[in-house]
Formats: sequence, structure tokens, C-alpha cells
Amino acid sequence: MIYADYNGSAPLCPDVREHVIKRMQDGPFANPNAIHHLGSKVLMAMENSRSVCAKVLGADFKQVIFNSGATEGITQAFFSILHKNTKKKIIISGIEHSAVVNCAKYYMLDHGHEMVVLKTKEDGIIDLDDLKDHLDDDTAMVAVMAANNETGIIQPYKEIAELCNNEDVPFLCDTTQFIGKTLFDFKHSGVDYAVMSGHKIGAMTGTGILLAKDPTTVKELVIGGGQENGKRGGTQNYLGYETLAVALHYFETHLDRLENLNTKRLEFESKIKEKFPEVVIVGENSPRLSSTTYIALPGVHGQAVQIELESKGIYVTTSSACSDNEPVTSKVLKAMNVSDDVGRGVVRISLGLCSDPEFYTEMTTSLISIYEKLSKIKSY
Ligand code: PLP
Repeated sequence: MIYADYNGSAPLCPDVREHVIKRMQDGPFANPNAIHHLGSKVLMAMENSRSVCAKVLGADFKQVIFNSGATEGITQAFFSILHKNTKKKIIISGIEHSAVVNCAKYYMLDHGHEMVVLKTKEDGIIDLDDLKDHLDDDTAMVAVMAANNETGIIQPYKEIAELCNNEDVPFLCDTTQFIGKTLFDFKHSGVDYAVMSGHKIGAMTGTGILLAKDPTTVKELVIGGGQENGKRGGTQNYLGYETLAVALHYFETHLDRLENLNTKRLEFESKIKEKFPEVVIVGENSPRLSSTTYIALPGVHGQAVQIELESKGIYVTTSSACSDNEPVTSKVLKAMNVSDDVGRGVVRISLGLCSDPEFYTEMTTSLISIYEKLSKIKSY
């Protein structure tokens, strides 16, 4: 079996699995806010995990707010910035995840804000001149992702941060697909708010982090007993947060794997192109995550390729998981002006740090035989 849908959700990283089993067997289990000895032990382990996460992400300890994942972090960042904000303009890009798009739409429809969607160039990178043109005194916030979940294309988030910082406009960077797949240094990024989800990096599902440059600006979304320094009420998922630290530590100590993954991915892409020169690799010449390939053979339907791959035990997806049932060109590809011919044909192959790069060898053989078979009976 080859699991190649890491951008959807990554399997537990081996160290995380070991840690969880040990912790389940040995404990301790207690409320981290309890004053007894067991509570203190749990609290210490959780705060130690916060330090590890802060170190790997280049943040201060207090800038790390544990939560349930990126969607919550994004929602809380929007709420923190826009609560009682008289500035009207929210700037997002046309390739954002629905977690960002729907927050912006909510504030536009329910709170009278204006939503500006930046142009994306054909290489998948947002148009920085368009951003410069739109940034003004009435801009409440900018939200642009660091790496795209479909294409893996990396945005110039540091330049965006600089432009926003110069205009004193808060910048929320959706780093969900970036963190754990390449190095991220929060302090040096210039970003005001960044987010991550544990299940994208091999930690437990239902865990995540909101990073806030100035934590005093974070307004609680869940009001409760003052946990997370008053930023998120409710007893913490301490075991889940420990897994974030274990997965991030694993990432930091296995960085050398990224280069190997990148080399194997490029070899895989060039072998497929050699055999089928008409193949399109979305964002081929743009900076991309080392673990993502978004590939189409025009005329061959992506879902047919996905089903054929699945019959060989290879799990990929045709676009982001949430829009899997729509056989249409995704909005990300539309924003990049990709033709429907390519848009209907794409499959996303996404691996992770824990994947065996040799998987690409099997993927090459399988994809070539599937393209040979399906191109004889073109689907559209
Ligand atoms: N942002 C991006 C870029 C994503 O890919 C995802 C998930 O696919 C999210 C946000 C939302 O993450 P979650 O569903 O873990 O909250």
C-alpha cells in the first residue's frame, strides 16, 4: 500500500505512535490545571511540549497557543483582528483554503466588511503588485497562505509580511501545509498570525497551534476557565499537544529526508514527462513543497486515474478532499487560469517526511501503465 495523501492527512509519525502507546500505558492522566502532584506532572509535560514546539517553529513560548487545528486558529485570528475593527477591507488570495475564504465571507456578509481577492499569476504565485495597490488605510487584515494544499506552490510570504508590516496591517499566514514540510521560522517571517494542524504533520488529529506575534491581541473564541493564558477555555488536550512536540521534533531531526524526497519527486516527474510529453505538472517551475506533485494528462479524467491507482493500492486524491465529489476544475486552478482540460485531469500525489522516497519508483511504473491504458479510451 502506498499512502500518497499527506496533504489531506498524514499517518501518525512512528515516534508519535510510540509516545502515545507508552503514555496510554504509563500515564499520568490528570487535569493539567489540577493542583495535586499528578496535575503538576501533566502540566509540566504539556508546557515542555510547548517549549519544544516554540523552538522548532522559531517562536517564543508565549506565542504558542494550543488548539484543535488550523480551522480554529484561522477563525480565532480573524475574530481577534476584526472584533470591533472599523477598518473595512479584508484582503485574501484566490487560492486560499475554505477555512480562510469562509471566514472572510462571514465578516463580509454579517459584519459589513469588504472582501478583496488578489490576482494569482499563471505560475500560481499571487500578484504582489496587486497587493501593493490594495493595501491602504482602510485595510483591516491580509490573509494569504504559505503553501497551497493542492499544488504545493510556495507563496512569497516574507515579502507579503514586509508589505503588511510597512502599512501596519495584520497578516494572517495559513501555514497549515508549510509547517512540517519545510522550515518555518515564525520570528523571522514577519507574520502576525500563523496556524498549523497536527494531523498534517503526523501528530494526533484534533490538535494544532495558533502562533501570535503579540499574544495580547488574541481574543478568546472559546470562553471558559482561563486555560491557554485566557486565550482558549476548556481543559487542554494535553496528550494531543505532546504529540505535536514529538512530531515537530521528528521533523527537525529528519530534515535531511526532505532533500532526498525532493530529488526522487523530480526524477518521478521527469520520467512521466519523458513518456508523456503532454503531461502537465501544475506549478512545475515555481517554488514547491518537496513532497507534492499535481499532475494531469489532458483528456484523461483525474478520477479515473485515482480509481486505477487505488486498485493498485496507491491512495491519491483528485483535488482538495472537500471538493472531491465535484468533477470540475478547482477554484485554485481557475485562479491560476488553468484550462478545464488540465483541471479535470489532475491528481494530487502528496507524501511526507515519514514516507519512503522509494515509493516514487512504484508510482512511476503504475502511473505510466495507467496513463497508457486510459489514454487509449480518453474520457473527454
Ligand atoms: N488550510 C489549509 C491550507 C489546509 O490544507 C487545511 C486542511 O486541509 C486547512 C487550512 C484546515 O485544516 P484543518 O481541517 O486541520 O482545520
